[in-house]
Amino acid sequence: MDGNALHFTPHGKHLIAGDWVEGPSHFKNEPFEGPQHDFSVGTVDHVEAACEAAEEAFWSYGYSTREERAVFLETIADEMEARAEQITEIGHRESGLPVARMQGERGRTTGQLRLFAQHIRDGAYLDIRHDKALPDREPLPRPDIKLMQRPIGPVAVFGASNFPLAFSTAGGDTAAALAAGCPVVVKGHSAHPGTGEIVAEAIHAAIERCKLHPGVFSLIQGGNRQVGSALVQHPLIKAVGFTGSLAGGRALFDLCAQRPEPIPFFGELGSVNPMFMMPEAVKTRAAQMGAGWAGSLTMGAGQFCTNPGIAVVEKGAAGDAFVNAARVALDQVGEQVMLTDGIAKAYRDGKARFDGRNAVRPLLAKDAGPRGALPNLYETDAETYLQDHALGEEVFGPLGLVVRVNSVDEMVGLAKGFEGQLTATIHMDDEDAEDARRLLPVLERKAGRVLVNGFPTGVEVCDAMVHGGPYPASTNFGATSVGTMSIRRFLRPVSYQNVPASILPADIK
Ligand code: NAP
Repeated sequence: MDGNALHFTPHGKHLIAGDWVEGPSHFKNEPFEGPQHDFSVGTVDHVEAACEAAEEAFWSYGYSTREERAVFLETIADEMEARAEQITEIGHRESGLPVARMQGERGRTTGQLRLFAQHIRDGAYLDIRHDKALPDREPLPRPDIKLMQRPIGPVAVFGASNFPLAFSTAGGDTAAALAAGCPVVVKGHSAHPGTGEIVAEAIHAAIERCKLHPGVFSLIQGGNRQVGSALVQHPLIKAVGFTGSLAGGRALFDLCAQRPEPIPFFGELGSVNPMFMMPEAVKTRAAQMGAGWAGSLTMGAGQFCTNPGIAVVEKGAAGDAFVNAARVALDQVGEQVMLTDGIAKAYRDGKARFDGRNAVRPLLAKDAGPRGALPNLYETDAETYLQDHALGEEVFGPLGLVVRVNSVDEMVGLAKGFEGQLTATIHMDDEDAEDARRLLPVLERKAGRVLVNGFPTGVEVCDAMVHGGPYPASTNFGATSVGTMSIRRFLRPVSYQNVPASILPADIK
């Protein structure tokens, strides 16, 4: 393929164990501009073939060297860069996300692949431990025991609509699983099947260049919810990485738990990401904080799991100035294209939940076109928020809710009432430290990441990142889906007791 050729025309097939195959029925993608294309609808037979091939591939890939896997990950990154222009073009058309955003997301995706290559070369993730034999110990001798992390087997991956690259076909879950030594079966997202196809082409090319078993990676396009259900229930699948909605994640999580052999389901779901505006900071920089919030809330049409949907601020003139600054800045943001018609409709439905609700005041309420979004802002008080569960549910889009409190005490009480979150933010000045110290122990029980004086929408891909949190932010609060620690989800510790070096795996000899 010519890396500089601009237009990519998808053929619409699934990639299963090295072959591009097609089923009896088709669905169409929904680009916001440009031509529509047909895609084969995935079937349970495709799931069966992909899982069988993944299991077969595990017997070589699961025992490959770290260097072989590192080179494979880097080759996927190279192959994606060779298709850079086409990936950007189809990703932009299918998602409506701006070209610059797609370019940035591609850099993040190839960066993640390269980061994992480095991480496994380093080897610390194997967490090797050794308790030497104590043959003379009384009353009983101690055997020689070594421990190492091993890959778990084939992994199923579900990407999200809002990150067609970084949380999709070759995204963080796929990179972490492949780095660990686990073959991957991706259930393609029906919102961006063409983008999924071209990225799968890049992975396919990398498999051929690295001479790996073709079952190491398969992509089954969606179009049929049975595919996802069959995939998570397939006996050869040993874990699931999922990024998406609470409803979808919970349905698939329940299926995993009901299997004869239950498996871990790592669901990264939605969140309202509350921000707590401390009194002294609000007094000194209300306008700046309000404008900053509006910028973060409307970035990418608000379609981020880390979107800061709630701001908690004291009643009074300083708090009013913050709210007014946010309202003015939001009012200046024009209509943005949403990822799909369905997501735009869900945003309208989410907004409708707030309209006319008791003790919830609209500060800015606007409707947009069928695939568009305009910012909306509402205000309520702590008592109403705590009594009305629906106000704490994620609205996927640029909708903000201000919760006014009477005091810092009430703010702390409100924080205790929040459900699990991906992030929680404190905006504070030095003079707020005493109050913030009371808030922090509450927030660290609620969120995977606590920020001070920033906005949560950017998620750094690094060693110290946790992108997860207590349910319903994720289904597994001990895990992260971003950063190098995410590899742990696809590893299992094995102890080797008195196993001679002659037969031990190379990494632990
Ligand atoms: P989604 O509708 O849940 O879709 C995610 C994937 O799950 C798709 O492949 C979808 O298939 C599949 N799916 C959903 N429900 C299913 C069911 N009942 N049975 C079988 N398969 C099912 O989520 P989305 O619209 O793509 O993403 C938006 C959501 O993701 C937001 O809530 C956002 O906050 C969240 N998100 C979370 C993170 C995070 O890291 N925590 C990151 C990004 C986004 P189809 O292709 O058929 O629809």
